[in-house]
Amino acid sequence: MKEGGLRKIVAANWKMYKTRGEAEKTASELRVSMTEETAGGRRVVIFPSFTNIAAVAGVFAGHPSVSVGAQNFYPAVEGAFTGETSLNMLRDLGATWALTGHSERRHILGETDELVARKTAFALQEGFSVMLCIGETLAQREAGELDKVLSRQTESALAALPPDSLGRLAIAYEPVWAIGTGKVAGPTEALEAHAAVRALVLKLLGDAGRSVPILYGGSVKPDNAATLLELDNVDGLLVGGASLNSQSFLQIVNA
Ligand code: PEP
Repeated sequence: MKEGGLRKIVAANWKMYKTRGEAEKTASELRVSMTEETAGGRRVVIFPSFTNIAAVAGVFAGHPSVSVGAQNFYPAVEGAFTGETSLNMLRDLGATWALTGHSERRHILGETDELVARKTAFALQEGFSVMLCIGETLAQREAGELDKVLSRQTESALAALPPDSLGRLAIAYEPVWAIGTGKVAGPTEALEAHAAVRALVLKLLGDAGRSVPILYGGSVKPDNAATLLELDNVDGLLVGGASLNSQSFLQIVNA
């Protein structure tokens, strides 16, 4: 950890992959190697699909640095919302984190900034830790709209944070053009974007914004993880494809 830096978080987004048995197998392989020491003082969060949360949480029960999170939820306590899942149900399975604003939910499932803001505030209010994802598409970047998009997404999501919830918020900067494409933001692009996000968070939250971890996500692999983790304002990584295999995820956690 850099002096004065935040404890780094390495998160795994398993998306819609793995049956229950497969998830349990990967989690067990990780568990064997993830003693406190091998996690290098890092915090690890695994986001399996709903059906695998209980199994993965069971494998890591009592682990001091590994938590389990939900990739999605509906922002209401309960009710007539067919097909949806509440945070109470997810907490009951062992989830303590929730992901909001992931680009696949924004761009494939049509989630708006307004819904992302509502979900972020609701999960924090319910006592969950939240990883809020933001990031620009290639067209937006090429149109010179990087700052505008990051401001819009961050300002709307942080506009109505519940009191005393800041310690449970993390932001993941994920350029949409780098997710699942094999293209990773270069150090200069990542540095610039992370500095912009830090400035926004400080503007919106004041000095308290210094303690909000900002993770990078987008085609992180074992061979680029260490370089990314060295950059200023990169307080961790959110990993999709390379987190599905226990060995490659372990290399990233220990990078
Ligand atoms: C993600 O799903 O958040 C992600 C960053 O995916 P990948 O690592 O596969 O680009």
